[in-house]
Amino acid sequence: MERGLDILVAEDNEVNQLVFTQILGETGYHFEIVGNGRKALDAFGKLNPRMILMDVSMPEMSGLEATAAIRQLEAEMGTRVPIVGVTAHALKGDRERCLEAGMDDYLPKPISPKALLEKLERWLGSDAEVRRNAG
Ligand code: MN
Repeated sequence: MERGLDILVAEDNEVNQLVFTQILGETGYHFEIVGNGRKALDAFGKLNPRMILMDVSMPEMSGLEATAAIRQLEAEMGTRVPIVGVTAHALKGDRERCLEAGMDDYLPKPISPKALLEKLERWLGSDAEVRRNAG
């Protein structure tokens, strides 16, 4: 039986796509990378990922818009995938914008391998303690 997708990455920047590929490639998790929010929305419906790393600023459909669309679909399905917003904007309140859009967490750029691995453990790990401390 084919294994399901662990991590969907939505990121339009090629350098950051490479960074994600290098870090995630060493984890053993099954991941896919798409280049805009529209494709992320499509991939969410087709691949049913266990978590999503969502760049905020992308062409065609931003990460915030894609997250809102995913949350609408989920409201009908009664499911909720963890979405971690990824953004280079060091603006104060950026994390709040991600959370307001329906994201669960936030990962700042430049992407640090340690910080990314911590997010994977937090949202893919089955440890209830990790989830209880979320937020
Ligand atoms: Mn971007």
